[in-house]
Amino acid sequence: MEDIQFIPTTHLKPKFTDPSKLGFGKVFTDHMFTMKYEAGKGWYAPTIEPYAPFALDPSCMVLHYGQAIFEGLKAYPGPDGKIALFRVRDNFERMNRSAARMRIPEIDVDFAIKALIELLKVERDWIPRAKDTALYIRPTIIATDAHLGVKASSTYLFFIILSPVGPYYAAGLDPVKIYVEDEYVRAVRGGTGFTKAACNYAVSLLAGELAKDKGYSQVLWLDGVERKYIEEVGAMNIFFRFKDEIATPMLQGSILPGITRDSVLKLLRHKGYNAVERRISIQEVCEAHAKGELLEVFGTGTAAVISPVGELRYEDHIMEINHNQIGEVSQMLYDELTGIQNSRIPDPMGWMSYID
Ligand SMILES: *Cc1c(COP(=O)(O)O)cnc(C)c1O
Repeated sequence: MEDIQFIPTTHLKPKFTDPSKLGFGKVFTDHMFTMKYEAGKGWYAPTIEPYAPFALDPSCMVLHYGQAIFEGLKAYPGPDGKIALFRVRDNFERMNRSAARMRIPEIDVDFAIKALIELLKVERDWIPRAKDTALYIRPTIIATDAHLGVKASSTYLFFIILSPVGPYYAAGLDPVKIYVEDEYVRAVRGGTGFTKAACNYAVSLLAGELAKDKGYSQVLWLDGVERKYIEEVGAMNIFFRFKDEIATPMLQGSILPGITRDSVLKLLRHKGYNAVERRISIQEVCEAHAKGELLEVFGTGTAAVISPVGELRYEDHIMEINHNQIGEVSQMLYDELTGIQNSRIPDPMGWMSYID
């Protein structure tokens, strides 16, 4: 691969002043990384350049057939002015699994990490330092052939943009209300549910809006065949703390294999909890709740880290969980994960990497 070309911006943007007002994904830094692909040539022209709109042909394939994938991870302030990353290799390896499913050419993981590091060094002053803030990283690949025939594109654009983010929920680590979706489905086995393909999010929007109208912040998806087994929340995996175990749905191809999900399973097992991956039916959840044996429910994902669930609604059953309070395991996991990510506590699993 050629060297990364650097085209500095001539107009630095004003930096945010109040990190608590950042919200999520609304502010972007001065530069982005881009790289192109052409069949027969491979990836070429890696460049760090001013953040700016793209010019795309109106017939460009991604706009018509949605051949697009993305990733989401965060950079944190590290010790001694270093930049800290959490499990960065896992994100780019997952991006390649998404790419393979969507007939997008894979990227060289080592080169992608190197490109990200170069970009972060240019943008290091954009990493916010206040509690519960981070620099969100969004690598993306889109199909760019100007051609309306339905086939895999022969040209692509890979880009990485950066966004300083505040807490995902303005209210902080407050329990959320979740609507168990029993009509629409998100994914089926054999489909694209295990990928971060753009199409998965487009199909989820309607159910999400209808749930909001009923006063719920997100949807919990059931399996696409029987609408019986729990899958995941819009952009989070889900965990249930029952009396004797902490369970999350097993990965069967329709669920996104979250890196936070995997980290939570490993942390729980490291601490001696009985953490299991298995099929969980919505019936089982309702019964456990009725018996007082559903102690905690929480979502896991890069954006919110741990998101306690205070209420679940399935058809006419309204289940209040843990008196709508943050549970002790949810709080412990949030403190551990954010502690590791922000270098406040030791990193027993070797998840962090540091950039000078
Ligand atoms: C990104 C995402 C998650 C969470 O994955 P992390 O790697 O933990 O951020 C869960 N579900 C869906 C559908 C996602 O897109």
